[in-house]
Amino acid sequence: MRMPRSMRKTDLLRHLEDLGWRDPPELPETEAGVSAGADDLERVEAQLLACQACGLSEKRRHVVPGAGSPRARVMLIGEAPGKDEDRSGMPFVGQAGKLLDGMIRAMGLKRNRVFITNVIKCRPPGNRDPKPEEIAACAGFLERQIDLIEPEVIIALGRFAARWLMGSEKSMGALRGRWGSFRNIPVMPIYHPAYLLRNPAGKAQVWEDLKKIMARLAREDRAVSNIH
Ligand code: SF4
Repeated sequence: MRMPRSMRKTDLLRHLEDLGWRDPPELPETEAGVSAGADDLERVEAQLLACQACGLSEKRRHVVPGAGSPRARVMLIGEAPGKDEDRSGMPFVGQAGKLLDGMIRAMGLKRNRVFITNVIKCRPPGNRDPKPEEIAACAGFLERQIDLIEPEVIIALGRFAARWLMGSEKSMGALRGRWGSFRNIPVMPIYHPAYLLRNPAGKAQVWEDLKKIMARLAREDRAVSNIH
């Protein structure tokens, strides 16, 4: 169960101990709450825009740090920017982006209230799979974004993100629709919008998966309202 976002670190630790949790997790050092998180997210973005930590920096047009709310309840994480994203610097634009927008709306959410990003922030040439050394160089940025945003749910878009987040080698067919976790945050893997453009029949399965996410968010809402 997630705590209200306005709760400070000390309050949160006290609350966890009241609940009988004797080994609380590591929390961000800041005591200033969400606004400090927003500042820190901007700092991560500034670092990303200047990053040359792997070879993908050489051919990129734009780094694509991600976009959305620093208070997002839901993070959507894909693999890496494609051609349109490299051109614009924004995640999930073009046809796949439109389809993703529709999926976000179907959950009763808005694009500017979620946070959308990728595991890798620069486009691999020709949309090839990212190399292990590129993943190793870049993944820390995503980990930091997740730590700062602290979403209630992560949606893994496609096989690459799902495998990375869940530390699994399973196929997307085996992973989709089943809850996993990343640092105790629930992760729901769903088919990537680009896959759905090629395989529209998969939309029915995605809708089933989105309903599970909506049900989980509704349960969190009820749990928080019961605290107050
Ligand atoms: S892919 Fe990541 S690590 Fe590599 S240059 Fe881009 S931002 Fe830096």
